[in-house]
Amino acid sequence: MKGNEVILTADRTQTSNFRSFIYAGFIPCFAKNWLTNIFFKTIVKQRKDLAPIGLRVCETVLLRAGINCSYVHSNDLKKQVNEKTKFVCVSCVDPVGKGPTSQLFKIFWRGKTFLEIEFERLMNTIKNLKQKYGFKVIVGGQGAWRLINKEKEFNIDHLFLGEAEKTLPDLIINPENYGLIVNGARPKADEIMPITHASVLGAVEIARGCGRGCKFCSTTLSGGIRNVPIENIKESIKNNIQEGQRNISLRAEDFLLYKHKKFIPDTDAVLNLFKECYDVKGLSDLQPVHGSHSAVYSNPDLIFKLDKLLKSRGAKFFGFQPGIETGSDRLLCKTMRGKKFPNLKEDWADIVYESLKITDKVDWFTCSTMMIGLPGETENDIRASINLVDKTKNFKNMMVPQFFVPVKFTSFENEESYIFKNMTSLKIQLLKACFKSIVGMVDKVGRDYFAGIRIPNVIKSFGVKKLFNGLERSIEKQLKFIKQLKYSAT
Ligand code: SF4
Repeated sequence: MKGNEVILTADRTQTSNFRSFIYAGFIPCFAKNWLTNIFFKTIVKQRKDLAPIGLRVCETVLLRAGINCSYVHSNDLKKQVNEKTKFVCVSCVDPVGKGPTSQLFKIFWRGKTFLEIEFERLMNTIKNLKQKYGFKVIVGGQGAWRLINKEKEFNIDHLFLGEAEKTLPDLIINPENYGLIVNGARPKADEIMPITHASVLGAVEIARGCGRGCKFCSTTLSGGIRNVPIENIKESIKNNIQEGQRNISLRAEDFLLYKHKKFIPDTDAVLNLFKECYDVKGLSDLQPVHGSHSAVYSNPDLIFKLDKLLKSRGAKFFGFQPGIETGSDRLLCKTMRGKKFPNLKEDWADIVYESLKITDKVDWFTCSTMMIGLPGETENDIRASINLVDKTKNFKNMMVPQFFVPVKFTSFENEESYIFKNMTSLKIQLLKACFKSIVGMVDKVGRDYFAGIRIPNVIKSFGVKKLFNGLERSIEKQLKFIKQLKYSAT
């Protein structure tokens, strides 16, 4: 295919560099109102030169197959789409606002999230263009499954579930061979090629898949870990740096398990990965996204050695996001036993506590998730979670609460979503303890971190602590209100 016959695009919640602050990526999960809109406009600044990692992968795959495609920012679609356009491929995250973070943030403000609003806005633009030019619409990405049975509503010709490498090129060349739902076959590790252009937040994949088998998680469906070859990782970093993205975020479900041995981190492999990445000319900062407490616990030696390497390369701030989900060993073993691999005989809360002791020692911070409303959860499980949050409150860790939301094709797909009106006073206590840990964490490390990046002076002048004290007061007010609702309903 020639020219711009295949156009790749995404809505505006995915095409910002979030002022290089990875955690600002949560802002679009808030419902839109005058206040959140200020944050959205200030922080979710649009960058037309950056595409989300998923679209960069599609772009690479199509170009390698000889299909001439181009990434187009959603604001430019009207200018770029024309009678030659055969396909518009859209990446989506949480198109209907039903993801765990969106559900949680609805505690603060109800209404449509930016994720929903911006996706609808984009799909409306595409609908009008489609009427004029008659191209086909393919929608993929992590939230694509949420659009099953909504294809007509959003004018979707193919809903693409799974990975792009092996199936997307053939879908473009032979669309007549495919139906409404297209399942992308899984590529081997060495078929995951380097991305050709810069990605949002300098995202570069180092591995895909997980293998821990949590019953609620879709990632686990893509099988065990596939490690991207180091040459491909370096090439992706180089291509990012060449287009100005010098801060790189390493994407994997667990960066510590790069080339692991039965879930025990391989010290040499991980150190080598970081050394090789640091050696790419022009690199400024290297941050992983996801890691696990089990990996830290199984190989503390790696953490101390890696920390030494990071500091020798000038890294000032280092952290990752592990999933804790519960403080209860009983519930963990029932629903996500693999999270303990390879420490099956240990107590989950002990693993988490010991791991946090280690990461705290090297001054790393963690942003852990804690789930509320998992199927089969009892009051004692909630108590165990509260105890864990309380016991770890002095570490540089924040516990980010999330409500359980069933995900299609997982073992829990037919379970009920946890909804706010089912809150009990114990769960409110857990929610509050989590929010307190967030405020505490920001208070502990916020100043150091914010000193390194540009944030608006108006926020600085309020003072980080003051700002978050205010936030804590507002959370307490909301929780009081919810509690009253609960009691008046019973
Ligand atoms: S450890 Fe994380 S990514 Fe892996 S299956 Fe469990 S929830 Fe999913």
